[in-house]
Amino acid sequence: MQLRFAFDNSYARLPDRFYARQDPTPVATPGKIAINADLAAELGLDAAALDTPEGLEILAGSRVPEGAEPLAQAYAGHQFGGWVPQLGDGRAVLLGEIVDRTGTRRDIQLKGAGRTPFSRMGDGRAWIGPVLREYIVSEAMHALGVPTTRALAAVTTGETVLREAPLPGAVLTRVARSHIRVGTFQYFAAREDTEALQALTDHAIARHYPEAAGPLDLLDAVVAAQARLVAHWLGVGFIHGVMNTDNVSIAGETIDYGPCAFLDTYHPETVFSSIDQFGRYAYSRQPDIAVWNLAQFATCLLPLMGEDRDAAVEHATESVHRFPELFRAAWLDVFRPKIGLTSAEDGDADLIHGLLDRMAAGRADFTNAFRGLADGTAADAFEAPEALDAWQADWEARLARDPAGPEARRAVMEAANPAVIPRNHRIEHATAAAVDGDLGPFERLRTALATPFAPDADLSRPPAPDEAVRRTFCG
Ligand code: AMP
Ligand code: MG
Ligand code: MG
Repeated sequence: MQLRFAFDNSYARLPDRFYARQDPTPVATPGKIAINADLAAELGLDAAALDTPEGLEILAGSRVPEGAEPLAQAYAGHQFGGWVPQLGDGRAVLLGEIVDRTGTRRDIQLKGAGRTPFSRMGDGRAWIGPVLREYIVSEAMHALGVPTTRALAAVTTGETVLREAPLPGAVLTRVARSHIRVGTFQYFAAREDTEALQALTDHAIARHYPEAAGPLDLLDAVVAAQARLVAHWLGVGFIHGVMNTDNVSIAGETIDYGPCAFLDTYHPETVFSSIDQFGRYAYSRQPDIAVWNLAQFATCLLPLMGEDRDAAVEHATESVHRFPELFRAAWLDVFRPKIGLTSAEDGDADLIHGLLDRMAAGRADFTNAFRGLADGTAADAFEAPEALDAWQADWEARLARDPAGPEARRAVMEAANPAVIPRNHRIEHATAAAVDGDLGPFERLRTALATPFAPDADLSRPPAPDEAVRRTFCG
């Protein structure tokens, strides 16, 4: 057995005011839920060694591995548009960083690891529901080709967490390119701590965008990364649910799987989160919200952009205003192959929007309608299939001008349209079973979602009306 984490902790070398040193709080009885062997291998970790009493103690926060420098990161943020000057890791502890097999630096964080100086009124803990949800959805996003934080492991704590009822406690080991957020920049900008802003900017550039020469380049790179990310989300019918600035990763990964959910029936105004009363973070509003968040980021960087404030504002504004164009291009890159296009024409966006409009009108299952385009079963995904008829002719006319032959076209569509996504009702079923001690449904989902483009008759079935889950919670 070899359980060695090759930690090299660059964040812990930043000034003290970036974080609070904080060990995870030991738990009663660590118990395995899942260990991600593929990800462990990427990180140079021995998965078998993680699956030992000592390994599970580390994953539960009961034992601090050699070389770790546990800390809770400070950050601020706008939550639903309202400014909160101090948030920070209230239930997560960064153990440290590992440079993976490909040379990429990865954070190893325990989520649900106990109270920290940033916990405010919270208990610092997580229950098994949100932990399994994040495990399932983040790993599914990875398999779907969407930039995301990963799940290395999930363990139970043997302790009870008090939510609306006493629930079994759990800890998720989250792996991220970093946990630097727009809110991390906001934390220092609000304190007018230009020295810290400069150090954070240098750190973020070195770590994520080494080709960037300064803050404006960093802003450009983050704008581009967010445009790509949100285009990916829309392509798989994903609604993040809490696009607060503290949940926007500078590395461009999807982060913070709280009340997130995938569409079953398509409608652009769909909202799942129980706390999103006004639909701020609805499916189709996500690009606009990304711009709002990026404007906050740009504002933070102004003090670093030279003496001439007006010029800095002008450059930063131009950078953020490039988002719509970058997003439209990324969105077309994502959606063209979904309808089998391997070439570009000016009318393609209208054609795709035409399909989406019909899907909304005909109450189509988002995933199955797109998947069905490849084998002629798209209409089966509609409650009112006649909605698709008029579009079909436009589509066929456009396909006739595309160079790909039928075989290649089908392959393109099958690689762009997943058969299986983590549907809400399945996640909730898996969670409820896990609370009762049955990890079978969770394992089944986790296995199928590792290859989401492979057909699975059972898991691709949309929820029956009485199974549909319309509300999700932060956990
Ligand atoms: P989130 O909604 O996950 O983005 O979290 C917003 C803020 O609340 C962050 O500062 C979290 O660390 C904090 N937080 C969420 N849940 C808890 C909890 N159970 N205990 C302590 N802090 C929490
Ligand atoms: Mg968060
Ligand atoms: Mg959360």
